[in-house]
Amino acid sequence: IQNIVIIGAGQAGGWAAQTLRAEGFTGRLVLIGDEAHPPHERPPLSKAVLSGAALPETTRLMKAEAFEALGLNWRPSARVLRIDRAAKQVLLADGEAVPYDKLILCTGGRARQLTLPGVDQVPLHTLRTIEDAQALAPALGAGRSVVVVGGGWIGLEVAATARQQGAEVVVVETQSRLCERTVPAEISEHLLALHRAQGTRVLLGAGVSGFARAADGRSEVLLADGSALRCDTIVLGIGLVPNDELAREAGLECDGGVLVDARCHTSDPDILAAGDVAVAPNTWAGRRLRLESWQNAQEQGIAAARSALGHTVDYQPLPWFWSDQYGMNLQIYGMPAAAHRVVRRCDEASGNFVLFYLAGDVVQAAIGHNAARDLRFARRLIEQRKPVDDERLADLATPMSKQ
Ligand code: FAD
Repeated sequence: IQNIVIIGAGQAGGWAAQTLRAEGFTGRLVLIGDEAHPPHERPPLSKAVLSGAALPETTRLMKAEAFEALGLNWRPSARVLRIDRAAKQVLLADGEAVPYDKLILCTGGRARQLTLPGVDQVPLHTLRTIEDAQALAPALGAGRSVVVVGGGWIGLEVAATARQQGAEVVVVETQSRLCERTVPAEISEHLLALHRAQGTRVLLGAGVSGFARAADGRSEVLLADGSALRCDTIVLGIGLVPNDELAREAGLECDGGVLVDARCHTSDPDILAAGDVAVAPNTWAGRRLRLESWQNAQEQGIAAARSALGHTVDYQPLPWFWSDQYGMNLQIYGMPAAAHRVVRRCDEASGNFVLFYLAGDVVQAAIGHNAARDLRFARRLIEQRKPVDDERLADLATPMSKQ
């Protein structure tokens, strides 16, 4: 292998590049990304970077010298328009053709937009990039009013950051509960209580029918029940669209993202994919999954790089996700399901807890509020499929290390 090309210089692409070098690949390594920045991590963009507590530069995956030392052919602000599988090359927007022996797709996703009446009447913010965070940050201060459309993770993190900056915040969610797609009802209730206690108005089961510019120049979110929410700023946090168009147009198998196997191979043996764009089999879920998480971007990026070099790879991680809102660090290991039995390990004094989701006497998933340490042990229980005792699990006096 002489030439490896990575499309997408985000977190997965950055890890793939770094890993190829660490594994001894000395050939030509081209990293093409349509952002101006070197690979970086996005989680702080809705947290510390959005609040101004951290500079965008702090999100970089690698120090400048370490990035330089990789000896990459890095193409910032360069967009791939097409993959030519027959000629084994990718075509850039400026007309250049870049040849590959192996191609790794790390194109991630983009914030979903709405096509409703009035979308062109008012500014609508979304949050995916450093530039998005920089555009939104000044609109969140004291005395400003913000409507967040979408009560998922990004929406709730933006709401929390805005509230902490002193803004008045309304969250509008179409579903009957928050983060409906990713957590059980009990956790949705917990999130709702947290946000309401902080003074955010949360509207559930509320459909958005459009947008309008009010006579005073401010924005309006029009709701399905005929009411309108007037505000200074509207943020859409309604999910992610995987950037799988290149793959689809090249005839690779896709289904809500690029289909890969546990080796990160697409339906073309010389093309691999990793990160938010990839749909992969997962034994823990018992089905294919497209994971939108920091953990997956890093680990699948590493796995794809090793696989491209011919190493044996069986990438089927126990999914792990976290979110930070106000003082709460919420972490989720595994895939909680309605069929699971729940055991609660709660510290009444602090309000911190871990909820365990079991099938029989084996923990399948765990969700914790400010319980990172206990969760690390929970992860081990899940991965080792170790039988547990409900009472001991719930008992704070029995350390997690002794379960
Ligand atoms: P990306 O980081 O999106 O990188 C893909 C790159 O490819 C982009 O730069 C894109 O512009 C580029 N690209 C796409 N198409 C082309 C093309 N044709 N040519 C050239 N370049 C192209 N996860 C957690 O686990 N916990 C969190 O708390 C958390 N917080 C988050 C907060 C925010 C605001 C966001 C946006 C995400 C958060 N995530 C979090 C998710 C996590 O950041 C993502 O899962 C991760 O960034 C995915 O990495 P990726 O490399 O697959 O995609």
